[in-house]
Amino acid sequence: MEKKPFVTLEQIKEITKTYPTPFHIYDEKGIRENVKKVKEAFSWNKGFREYFAVKATPNPFLINILKEYGCGCDCSSMSELVMANKLGFGGKDMADGIMFSSNATPAEEFVYAKEIGAIINLDDFTHIDFLEKCAGIPEKISMRYNPGGTFKISTTIMDNPGEAKYGVTKEQLIEGFKILKEKGVKEFGIHAFLASNTVTNEYYPTLAKTLFETAVEVKEATGCHITFINLSGGIGIPYRPEQDANDIMVIGEGVRKVYEEVLVPAGMGDVALCTELGRFMMGPYGALVTKAVHEKHIYKEYIGCDACACNLMRPAMYGAYHHITVLGKENAPCEYKYDITGSLCENNDKFAVDRMMPKIDMGDYLFIHDTGAHGYAMGYNYNGKLRSAELLLKEDGSVQMIRRAETIDDYFATFDFCDILK
Ligand SMILES: *Cc1c(COP(=O)(O)O)cnc(C)c1O
Repeated sequence: MEKKPFVTLEQIKEITKTYPTPFHIYDEKGIRENVKKVKEAFSWNKGFREYFAVKATPNPFLINILKEYGCGCDCSSMSELVMANKLGFGGKDMADGIMFSSNATPAEEFVYAKEIGAIINLDDFTHIDFLEKCAGIPEKISMRYNPGGTFKISTTIMDNPGEAKYGVTKEQLIEGFKILKEKGVKEFGIHAFLASNTVTNEYYPTLAKTLFETAVEVKEATGCHITFINLSGGIGIPYRPEQDANDIMVIGEGVRKVYEEVLVPAGMGDVALCTELGRFMMGPYGALVTKAVHEKHIYKEYIGCDACACNLMRPAMYGAYHHITVLGKENAPCEYKYDITGSLCENNDKFAVDRMMPKIDMGDYLFIHDTGAHGYAMGYNYNGKLRSAELLLKEDGSVQMIRRAETIDDYFATFDFCDILK
């Protein structure tokens, strides 16, 4: 897919008069167009809801955009639950607006999740007992399934659920539902997340087949009323220019076919589908903008910029590819080979290694693509680096700051109980 920045050099020059680099910037228009498509792709399913995976981009302004389209929140921690609750998910006009898909869950998070009416998605069989003791069992609940082994699409191994810490076995799922039913649960859900960042239209339909068949089996074995099935996250985006984007309409249609093949004949044509997409909802609609501030010529050619891995960890952590456009040089030939680095005292602090790019001059702005999910969110403070601002490029072309940059005072804030740094 062609990698085209959603801002121009002229716009960035204007924006940096107010907001210095580095910053993450998000494209409101792109976010809105995409969420509409996601809704449309599953509009055939009565009760469908996308629960945005808050951990991907925990910014209340962005989450509120998705809320306008009826999306809920998928939370994984206390802070995310509090954010979702403060934003009115789970409130009167948003019943069942929060999914709580967590693991190794602390008791106080179960207590709070139940209190605010979040749908609890149990990661383990032992959590039934744990939840009952700390918070009590709600009437609507979900369990996370892990089929083990490898997850394949035709003959290609996509991921390795057998090595993943999440979810329960089929036997535990059946036994768990029986116990939960005895304890008064009326509505059951099944969840599974079996492969991450899949760039194929086959992932959801393949996962759906596994989940739907399991649901039929579990219903027959337990008599439980399964009212929702959660396909979770995992739909990926084309980080690399040579990759093709997923087509959510094709994906929705693929899931519909399996639904009609498996669930409808089993008398389960009333099951609502949920998704917990993170990357697919936000990834392409965010970018990290950074300025080239140093060049260095030793055994290799280096460009040092004013962002670092603290602003975007994926390349350092996973060796992930993020495309980089030199703004204003979109059509220049890529004749120079660079390592693009940040300033951390860590040699893996590189946004690109041996990347062919146009000649980069000091002061050039680099647009690092696809940082809208798992970008800012994974930020950290190593080397005393401060987290950047987040900006929203609105549909009318104006820019709104949706999170300010951290200051040194923020960095020292956890010493506010003492006067050692006064
Ligand atoms: C991370 C996560 C998601 C979102 O994953 P994406 O790859 O961003 O779509 C959804 N559900 C759960 C339980 C997760 O842990």
